[in-house]
Amino acid sequence: MREANAMEYMSTRGKSESMESADAILQGIAVDGGLLVPVEIPKVDSEFIDELKDMTYQERAVKILGLFLTDYTEDELKKCVSNAYGNGKFDTEEVAPVKEVGDRTVLELWHGPTSAFKDMALQLLPQLMQTALQKTGEKKTIQILVATSGDTGKAALAGFADVPQTKIQVFYPENGVSAMQKLQMVTQKGDNVQVIAVKGNFDDAQTGVKKIFKNDVFVKQLETKGTKLSSANSINWGRLVPQIVYYFSAYADMCKSGTIKSGDTINFTVPTGNFGNILAGFYARQMGLPIGHLVCASNQNNVLTDFLQTGYYDRNRPFAKTISPSMDILISSNLERLLYHLTGDTMRVNGWMEMLAADGLYDVGVGMLQRVQNYFWADWSDDEKTKETIREVYDKTHYVLDPHTAVAWAAADAYRRKTDDMRPMLIVSTASPYKFNDSVLEALGEAAEGKNPFELLDALEAKNEVKAPKGLTMLKDAKVLHETCCEKDGMENVVFDFAKG
Ligand SMILES: *Cc1c(COP(=O)(O)O)cnc(C)c1O
Repeated sequence: MREANAMEYMSTRGKSESMESADAILQGIAVDGGLLVPVEIPKVDSEFIDELKDMTYQERAVKILGLFLTDYTEDELKKCVSNAYGNGKFDTEEVAPVKEVGDRTVLELWHGPTSAFKDMALQLLPQLMQTALQKTGEKKTIQILVATSGDTGKAALAGFADVPQTKIQVFYPENGVSAMQKLQMVTQKGDNVQVIAVKGNFDDAQTGVKKIFKNDVFVKQLETKGTKLSSANSINWGRLVPQIVYYFSAYADMCKSGTIKSGDTINFTVPTGNFGNILAGFYARQMGLPIGHLVCASNQNNVLTDFLQTGYYDRNRPFAKTISPSMDILISSNLERLLYHLTGDTMRVNGWMEMLAADGLYDVGVGMLQRVQNYFWADWSDDEKTKETIREVYDKTHYVLDPHTAVAWAAADAYRRKTDDMRPMLIVSTASPYKFNDSVLEALGEAAEGKNPFELLDALEAKNEVKAPKGLTMLKDAKVLHETCCEKDGMENVVFDFAKG
């Protein structure tokens, strides 16, 4: 039975049927190639926001998710949220704590099992998927395929491990991830997980996975055997919606601590790659959370800085490998959702996305640029500036920033200098510095060369008032459980065998 006020999801390209959220989460991407968006963004009032103050993170999540996932019952959402953020999975009960650092405020999103912000979404997505399977009566097992250059693979493994009716298989380039990232993955426990080294680079792994999804014969063959292939990538609505919660949660925490008064407007600066995190902030603002500007911080791959300053998106530029690798992206997929929400015009979105696919660029024009700039501001840092920021903040406050957060810190500084907007600014912190020991130590003037991953961890711990996360220190004694290796042409067989087994 469909409820009268059920939220429907439609494609940004307007050429596929609308559906409720459970189907949107199982489907991932719209059949016309667009992204699934809520047809209407729910609105909240100040009373709704005030009520969050005395709630736990989990209670806040149930309340906010309930506005979007109207086909899930409250009990279902409570269970999903508790499995994702409870049971000691996060190393602090606050889940996403707000910290005062010198005269700045930081929202820490890296207290989950893999010490990076991907956990905020990838802990909840598998729960939402499994519940969706039950709700829709789908009997097949979902087999998630992930090609990873490092962090997403581990976060996905941790989220899907032992979730009923799901399996997860992660492919990483044999010599293309850091020693610590590799250890994090190959020690992953769980009856439904498999981790495979591919003899090739990240592109080979990613191309291999894409080929498998496009092989209709193979996909159908697996389906007749009871397995449905799926992905956990960041355009799934089930990865975006959990991220809206912490914008509200941070605001509620600041009201509670007296840093701001109910109704005050605040700004956020977000280290950005695929535009998922910052877009969740946009949804929060559209819902009625008093947000002024969302500052989009990029590294040397500064496509978004240019777009938000000129309205001109151009991916035709060299790809730079930086010390903030999770932001090394030239196509920010989630931007399509913003373009849709600001125009409501699927024809225009189609046009821009066709130009992007054909020529790697599009221009939204002056009117649209002005609309975008009502919400967003942008700046970027190169690696040198990023290291300088890590060092300066450490010298002043003894707080250790990871390179992604440092990019955001510098952009927040630039925003203040150039706009005179002195409203409270929250800097969104997306990773623990212990995930990037070598670059952080170098920034702090320490030699990193020649040290093994655990020596690096200890060296940083000696300088940091915050202890290294257990999930990383425990790896020293963890058993290697995955040693499978495959040729880049052999991935399909590996997928088939895992589906059978
Ligand atoms: C994924 C990631 C980002 C980028 O987030 P998007 O939602 O892709 O914009 C930033 N920092 C870290 C540490 C990440 O893992």
